[in-house]
Amino acid sequence: MENGGAALAAWNFAPNDALLGLTVLSVRGVLGRVRPGMVEGSDAGARPVVPLGHGGPSAFPCFRTAPEAVDAVAGALRSGEHNSYAACIGLEPARRSISQSLSRDLPYELSSDDVYLTSGCAQAIEVVCSALARHGANILLPRPGYLFYEARAVFNNMEARYFDLVPERGWEVDLDGLQGLADGNTVAMVIVNPGNPCGNVYTYEHLGKIAEMARKLGIFVIADEVYAHLTFGEKFVPMGVFGSVAPVLTLGSISKRWVVPGWRLGWIVTNDPNGVFHKTKVVDSIKSYLDISSDPPTFVQGAIPQLIKNTKQEFFNKTVEVLRQTADICWEKLKGVSCTTCPSRPEGSMFVMVKLDLSCLKDIKDDMDFCCRLAKEELVVVLPGCAVGYKNWLRITFTVAPSSLEDGLDRLKSFCLRHSKRK
Ligand SMILES: *Cc1c(COP(=O)(O)O)cnc(C)c1O
Repeated sequence: MENGGAALAAWNFAPNDALLGLTVLSVRGVLGRVRPGMVEGSDAGARPVVPLGHGGPSAFPCFRTAPEAVDAVAGALRSGEHNSYAACIGLEPARRSISQSLSRDLPYELSSDDVYLTSGCAQAIEVVCSALARHGANILLPRPGYLFYEARAVFNNMEARYFDLVPERGWEVDLDGLQGLADGNTVAMVIVNPGNPCGNVYTYEHLGKIAEMARKLGIFVIADEVYAHLTFGEKFVPMGVFGSVAPVLTLGSISKRWVVPGWRLGWIVTNDPNGVFHKTKVVDSIKSYLDISSDPPTFVQGAIPQLIKNTKQEFFNKTVEVLRQTADICWEKLKGVSCTTCPSRPEGSMFVMVKLDLSCLKDIKDDMDFCCRLAKEELVVVLPGCAVGYKNWLRITFTVAPSSLEDGLDRLKSFCLRHSKRK
């Protein structure tokens, strides 16, 4: 017998099965399956890997954060005032400055009591899904979408139901379809605006219709606005504008706008002038969950007032200008890529969705196969649509230096040509 003859011990522990199935639901998990085929050349002149699959800003120098943001964090650290635990909902000055900055775009004033700090927007999603998951509840999620919602809902035993986004209408919500999904156990719907993975930016009118529908169904809206203000087409309107029609929980963070996803600071904001979240005790449930979770680092919380106050408008303008340029490169270059179509020009965020025409490709099984072969043959990483709930599409990230993006898309083009049935 193995182990020197000892009988295999009978351990009482086993993995949590609910977690073993979840890796398929993460972008990181899927990218982990795409990348291993790549063999990088080590000789000088070897082609570099072009990363077009990542979920946020990249390490390219054109996406560096503002020096004022770095100074704010360094100052908070040096002050020696932020070495303790913070209150579980976050430091008051940070919550106040976030409420003031968000209020600028709203028809009413938020107070610091409307703001709860979290470790990035990801923890905000975790908190909200946990706070809502009562027995039998279901939640309406967009397809394609950001699968972290599904993972957090499912892990909390909450049923996820999917409404469609319509590619031909700028990825607007299919409101009739949405209505058909809801029942008395539906608690909320999620929108991601500006959108990941679609690059959509919703109009004032469309957001108004979403609010009316939520009111009719008796549900509230979770508005993931982690890409707020990162728009270069349609102007960004926060969902909170319609908070008096239906209550809105706005989720956000500094990760994307300040291009610092590693700093781990996000928020949940109640946009609810009628106080529905208090009456229904949803806020109590959020606070209780925050009581039993870990907080964002206190010195990052301490830096927030200066970070918001001192970051210059030019920094935001510059980021948006680069995104406008790289989104344009995508839109123009993708027109020349055979066996693909791009139904909607991106107007915000960092992504565009591209449809694969498998009938035109001679030896590609599906989106996963496409991405694995592309990585292997061209050293270009793109995300297969299955990682955003949309089989046989691709998500391309354009937070990449313009020259690398052009290089990557040229390689995508020659890959498609090489595998195309028509030449
Ligand atoms: C990146 C992203 C998040 C997570 O943001 P963090 O602040 O980095 O946790 C949440 N939602 C969407 C749609 C995202 O793209």
